[in-house]
Amino acid sequence: MFSIDDILSATGGKLVCGTKNVNITGITTDSRTVKNGDLFIPLKGQNFDGHDFIWQALENGAVAVMSSKDLALETSKVVIKVDDTLVALQRIAEYHRRRFDRLKVIGVTGSTGKTTTKEMISCILSQKYNILKTKGNYNNQIGLPLTILNLKPEHDIAVLEMGMSSFGEIRNLKNIAKPDIAVYTNIGISHIEKLGSRENILRAKLEMIEDFTEDDYVVLNADDDMLLKAKENMHSRVITYGVDRGDIRAFGIEQRDKLHFNVKFPGADDGVLNVEIDTYGKHNVYNALAAIAVGFIYKLDATDIITGLRDYRPEKMRLNIVKTKDLIIIDDAYNASPDSMKAAIDVLHDIGKDGFKTIAVLGDMKELGDYSYIAHRDVGKYVHQKGIDILVSVGRFAGYIADGALECGMEPERIYKADDNREAIELLKKILKKGDVILVKGSRAMMMEEITSFLRREE
Ligand code: ATP
Ligand code: MG
Repeated sequence: MFSIDDILSATGGKLVCGTKNVNITGITTDSRTVKNGDLFIPLKGQNFDGHDFIWQALENGAVAVMSSKDLALETSKVVIKVDDTLVALQRIAEYHRRRFDRLKVIGVTGSTGKTTTKEMISCILSQKYNILKTKGNYNNQIGLPLTILNLKPEHDIAVLEMGMSSFGEIRNLKNIAKPDIAVYTNIGISHIEKLGSRENILRAKLEMIEDFTEDDYVVLNADDDMLLKAKENMHSRVITYGVDRGDIRAFGIEQRDKLHFNVKFPGADDGVLNVEIDTYGKHNVYNALAAIAVGFIYKLDATDIITGLRDYRPEKMRLNIVKTKDLIIIDDAYNASPDSMKAAIDVLHDIGKDGFKTIAVLGDMKELGDYSYIAHRDVGKYVHQKGIDILVSVGRFAGYIADGALECGMEPERIYKADDNREAIELLKKILKKGDVILVKGSRAMMMEEITSFLRREE
């Protein structure tokens, strides 16, 4: 995969040990999964420093290791010294990306819906093309380079999720990945802590298209006020989608066991697609429209697009509807932001319309900084507006959700506050009745799967 010279020239590193006549057949940052022939790149995380595991990587068969420290190691293997191992990983990924000049790259960003949209795009494009896609949620400064290192000559298109929490991060990802198509799902207030405003979030996300020319494409959600405005200053080709406006429009949205809707698009004779997706919620119409737009760019026909979307399956812990003996559980425990909270409450409301009692178990939303108070109260207001029967808040900030609901008129006897998951479970044991529909959602750090696994015990 790489010679030592490749690595040295990509990273500007120094060979401090070993010889150059070694071939590197893989790259890993996890010493436990090192295979014979790998280069091990140690990264510094919050809790661990990969440098402490260099010996383990060598024992497991690494032919080369990288380090930003002077190592007191007795080894005949290759040791490459660099200033910063994360930057080195990114430079190698960038070098690898440049080897595939015919490869097309799609970058997917936005405040919510990135993973879902990335998966839907991949389902559609893989009807005709060989796709490399971001695995799970590997969308950051480490995950994206690692994904790119999986590129092989047989890949036609890479579909890459790009996440960020401050300025410069998307620029860095874009410089590594060199996208040809940028897909924007929406501009909300997830990760607002460091950026301070929606305007700044938009600006940070627009870093992806700084080098775009009229050969490139932007796909954007025209029902998002900020994206629609940003369109005016774009120099590339732009395809818009939406329910209220857009080149590609959805209508006749109906949630049955699956999500059904029709899509009108310009240029077609009859101009309508009938789409069916194994998922819930109107927000997923938007994710699917973005994916359909990408399908059109690659000239897939209606059948491929429809079949591709039919193949889509939601990720675990993301709005999974689980029916147990006694309950309908909406398991959205993976993560939470203000917009995705509202999307999930919409789904709870919709399912509840069939006469079920609705219970929202909502935990803290992290990374909102100064917006925390307002955003949590706003979600509380939404819970009340949507007529949810019972609210259980879990955690310190989520207490503001309860306060928000109370203030706008939800009866106090329908609102419960729990400090943690354990207390929430004890409460639920008293509240839950056969036939209830219950939503569980909170930020990753809240580990609300503790609650869903309790609920799912009688699945
Ligand atoms: P992350 O920042 O965690 O990577 P993401 O942008 O990849 O999130 P997804 O994982 O696709 O987003 O979706 C996360 C949750 O957000 C879903 O479970 C759903 O509740 C909600 N969601 C998904 N798409 C949208 C959308 N278009 N608008 C609003 N909410 C959405
Ligand atoms: Mg994601």
